[in-house]
Amino acid sequence: MSTVLQARDLTRYYDVSQGFLKPSAQVKALNGVSFELQAGKTLAVVGESGCGKSTLARQLTLIEAPTSGSLLLDGQDAATAGKAELKAMRTKVQMVFQNPYASLNPRQKIGSQLAEPLQINTALSAREREEKVRGMMQRVGLRPEHYFRYPHMFSGGQRQRIAIARAMMLNPRIVVADEPTSALDVSIQAQVLNLFMDLQDEFKTAYVFISHNLSVVEHVADDLMVMYLGRAVEVGEKNRVYERPLHPYTQALLSATPSIHPEQRRIKIKIEGELPSPLKPPSGCAFHKRCPHAQERCMQEVPELRELDQRMIACHRAEEINV
Ligand code: SF4
Ligand code: MG
Repeated sequence: MSTVLQARDLTRYYDVSQGFLKPSAQVKALNGVSFELQAGKTLAVVGESGCGKSTLARQLTLIEAPTSGSLLLDGQDAATAGKAELKAMRTKVQMVFQNPYASLNPRQKIGSQLAEPLQINTALSAREREEKVRGMMQRVGLRPEHYFRYPHMFSGGQRQRIAIARAMMLNPRIVVADEPTSALDVSIQAQVLNLFMDLQDEFKTAYVFISHNLSVVEHVADDLMVMYLGRAVEVGEKNRVYERPLHPYTQALLSATPSIHPEQRRIKIKIEGELPSPLKPPSGCAFHKRCPHAQERCMQEVPELRELDQRMIACHRAEEINV
């Protein structure tokens, strides 16, 4: 198995204006996140909105540079890559967004939208491009004869298939999918998830699947990273984490997801209160204000990510509360 992506201590701060004449504040949207992604595997990144998932997506697709930390794609460090290298690296990571309509140009026929990445990045002739596009349309469950149609002539599910086809056109190493099914009807969601899985089997693409919904990622993920306020709090093999979550936040998320292994949801935790503002994160463990197990130490010391029971976890009291 080969590693396609290594994120090391990825950190991204933003300066946020607090209004006229006030000093700007710093938001730590991503606060030292590390993980590895293997070829052909899926890492699901889960957390509430505001936890840093979308910031992470922007880093992974090389749209935005991290404030610190590094990102290695096929062993190549994005920070030391030259302009041309960076352009080549960007073609290896493609993105699928939540709202397929927003990522498609309403005034351009879908055939030419799908051909665009080939036109920019390959030396294929117009005929070869069209042939490739029609092949990919068929592969994602669209009718190749719809090549000359406009986006509005397709249903929501079909539009997401178009967006997926577009992401796949250059045979990327990685597809980052940000809530790719949450704008779709429930009946369509499973079909689109199955399409992702089939394409992964065929092309060995690695996925980073971003979602707030643990039941959506259950069927697609190999590994799981649970995030809270810019940090990873539990990272491990999906089955292991779903069967025995050790972090109180993961436990709370899972117990709020009724469809998942009801027999295994022994631990009932309700998440109280709102996600704190990333502008003023709580001291110590950022989860302490909502955690039923919080003690003095939790309010003072930031728990480091450490290994426990074959996964990584950031909680001072994980052993005590999981006996
Ligand atoms: Fe709860 Fe403390 Fe663990 Fe944070 S470190 S999750 S507050 S027990
Ligand atoms: Mg898989």
